[in-house]
Amino acid sequence: MAFVITEPCQVEKAGECATVCPVDCIEEGADQFYIDPDVCIDCGACKAVCPVDAIEEEYDLTPEQEAFLEKAEAFFAR
Ligand code: SF4
Repeated sequence: MAFVITEPCQVEKAGECATVCPVDCIEEGADQFYIDPDVCIDCGACKAVCPVDAIEEEYDLTPEQEAFLEKAEAFFAR
């Protein structure tokens, strides 16, 4: 399981998440920040600091939000 950054980040791109992640698995992309789902330890620290509530647990994603997990996987597969 992993946390996933969703649509509100595309407007805000605040970045607090990347500074608190204990395993340094959040990187800034061109349009939003991304969490590496293979490295995330599911601690929830990023979700707690996101000012726009953009971060969801993988198993809480709505069907519309599933695309953000796929985007993250593609981002880190570069
Ligand atoms: Fe990093 Fe924890 Fe957020 Fe995963 S849940 S991205 S390990 S801060």
